[in-house]
Amino acid sequence: MKLYNTLSKKVEEFRTKTPGLVTMYTCGPTVYHFAHIGNLRSYLMEDVLERFLAYEGNEVRRVMNITDVGHLTSDADTGEDKMLKGARREHKTVMEIAAYYTEAFFIDCEKLNIKKPATVVPATSCIADFIAFVQVLLDKGFAYEAGGNVYFDASKVKDYYCLTGHAAEALKVAVREDVSEDGNKRGKNDFVLWFTKSKFDEQELKWPSPWGLGYPGWHIECSGISVKYLGEYLDLHCGGVDNIFPHHTNEIAQSEAYLGHPWCTHWFHVHHLNDESGKMSKSKGEFLTVSLLESKGYDPLAYRYFCLESHYRKPLTFSFAALDNAAKAYKKLIARLAALSPDKGAPDEALSARYRADFLAAVGNDLNTALGITLLYSLLKEPASDAAKLAVAADLDRVLGLSLIEKAALLRASAQATAGAGGASAAAGGEACTGSEAGSGSDGGDGVDRGDPEVAAIEAAIAARAAAKKAKNYAEADRIRAELAARGILLTDTPEKTTWRRGEGK
Ligand SMILES: [Zn+2]
Repeated sequence: MKLYNTLSKKVEEFRTKTPGLVTMYTCGPTVYHFAHIGNLRSYLMEDVLERFLAYEGNEVRRVMNITDVGHLTSDADTGEDKMLKGARREHKTVMEIAAYYTEAFFIDCEKLNIKKPATVVPATSCIADFIAFVQVLLDKGFAYEAGGNVYFDASKVKDYYCLTGHAAEALKVAVREDVSEDGNKRGKNDFVLWFTKSKFDEQELKWPSPWGLGYPGWHIECSGISVKYLGEYLDLHCGGVDNIFPHHTNEIAQSEAYLGHPWCTHWFHVHHLNDESGKMSKSKGEFLTVSLLESKGYDPLAYRYFCLESHYRKPLTFSFAALDNAAKAYKKLIARLAALSPDKGAPDEALSARYRADFLAAVGNDLNTALGITLLYSLLKEPASDAAKLAVAADLDRVLGLSLIEKAALLRASAQATAGAGGASAAAGGEACTGSEAGSGSDGGDGVDRGDPEVAAIEAAIAARAAAKKAKNYAEADRIRAELAARGILLTDTPEKTTWRRGEGK
């Protein structure tokens, strides 16, 4: 595929050291709080990239770290320790905070169909590796001890700004003039590899090291974990654009100093999700999480669809109106697929091959996911059998990850069950009234469209569940309940009927 490389600053053919094998590293979350949907945009696009590389026939070996120590609020060496901040906020220990938010992160990922990387490594599990890494940097003369800490000496690196470009150099230094610099540093760009003395006296997690009791800096985590699990040469390193400086810049400096040769050939960065007032952050405005979207009645996959409709290299502005549009389009797409019958016709090899080639060309051009979705709409217009179209949609969805076939099957079954039970047809959008508390959950005048088709779909799913229970197919009934719960729809069974309501956000 062709992919933009932050290092070369151009779209280029993505090549790997070993043909057919991709080593891929992703900077994972700092687990001190819930991820907001802006953070998740990066993980979502990285997931599509991983799926696409696998779809092309590559074996992808992917590693992600979990930052549970050492990450300061400035991303550099100033500010507070994020984990300590989280622990203080919630009156818990750092490890309790880490465990809780790591789990919450992967629950959010699952809801967005973001696959968990095969290897997930908490930083605190690799302390000995970081110590050994820092020792090599000291031995090679790339690091120094000062004031009890160990620092990386950025002046020893030939091209420290290779990732940001030299235009950024002046800017970044100017910005950093304002920052109260650590007097132990010999140069502005030097950064901490190992802290023993810092302003965080109450730091809970400390380990013995040759330089005293302390803990690693944030940047060393990713270099240490990547080299340990993926070896000396890395094909692909991913993150959000805000990781480019200083985090990824420092990763390159220390990794190449340690290894003595170029390290990672391709850098993939996803741009920001902004809200209408600017960059999304945890500190201002409504804290946008997957749970919040669910509490407002959105299917998390509508957010995935929203992200796939735009290019990863452009900032994306989030608003509920924009999400509504994506949610409607996604729902319509599912409805059109549900209208196809898997029993009509058979898969068509020629059609599948043609779409596969078009999809590889479209999405393979710098991960153009929007064009991949457009192909689904072209597919629906093909003069082919229903089964042939569904087979192609299933194939493309291996990359898009929109659960198209599962959701269409559910909708189809619901509609059939409703029709069979003599109730209102989902397709007709009638107001079937099994639910006396319909929509009574979290309505807050937030402008979310809760029109009839969605209510009808929920009622149809409830009817399908009732039919499954009647047929003693309890597994299917439970599956439908779980599917609804995942969309924030909670059911209550009484002897007479089943009612539903929208769940409250966490
Ligand atoms: Zn990282």
